[in-house]
Amino acid sequence: MPGKLLTLEGVRKAFGAHKVLDGIDLGIETSEIVGLLGPNGSGKSTLLNVISGFMSLDAGQVSIEGRAISRLPADAVVKAGLVRTFQLPSMPTRMTVREVLQAGSSGGAGVRSWFARPRFDADLDSLLDQFKLSHVADLPASALSGGQKKLLSIATALRAHPRLLCLDEPTAGVHPELRTEIVNILRACNAQGVTILVVEHDMMFIRDLCRRAVVLDRGELIADCAPKDLESNPRVVEAYLGKAVKKGKVRT
Ligand code: ADP
Ligand code: MG
Repeated sequence: MPGKLLTLEGVRKAFGAHKVLDGIDLGIETSEIVGLLGPNGSGKSTLLNVISGFMSLDAGQVSIEGRAISRLPADAVVKAGLVRTFQLPSMPTRMTVREVLQAGSSGGAGVRSWFARPRFDADLDSLLDQFKLSHVADLPASALSGGQKKLLSIATALRAHPRLLCLDEPTAGVHPELRTEIVNILRACNAQGVTILVVEHDMMFIRDLCRRAVVLDRGELIADCAPKDLESNPRVVEAYLGKAVKKGKVRT
């Protein structure tokens, strides 16, 4: 798939006999915002893990602008411009929120290369403010609530100036008011050229942010369409057993 920013070809990953990714093909263009959906346990986090080099794949290829990254260590993947956040971010116990943001580190395996990146300290206070973290800036990062850790991990990822930002459930546990703020921030990043792949269950969030949604189920991508067309896609409805699709949440 020439011309794509991210290309996945025949990506496979199994845990024992359990085939979680069974030959995934996906192309993402520069400046797209793509929502990645699927029932719990369908392999969304695993897909982000193999894309970002946190987990080895069994077969297939992941490339950025035609350059294979699938066998690179996670920090080299960050250097290639791909930065991701985690579904359950862990934070260092001996660094304050401000220090984590200053270091451009959220405690993940990409730390070394993030440290080597240019610092943009002028942005720090405005980022703390935007993400409503100013009042906790001098607390240990590990003392934050789950939602605040999500916010800090997104802010930290942005300071690494990604070309492709992969987010794993960025609004889970985040106050609804901040959900809108996150949408606005991500839109602004995208307007500056950042391509985004976001795992999210919240259909309002997906509809607000994405023009394209892909759905993973039992090892395969079963849909690739506009978010508004998800509810009328029989394979998607079947994957979710018809539950809650019309209520704005597709979590089973
Ligand atoms: P999702 O993010 O869509 O909820 P995951 O990618 O976390 O799903 O998990 C997909 C499946 O792979 C689940 O059945 C999960 O138990 C399994 N799985 C994920 N990581 C591992 C692992 N490290 N070892 C064994 N099984 C795993
Ligand atoms: Mg997950």
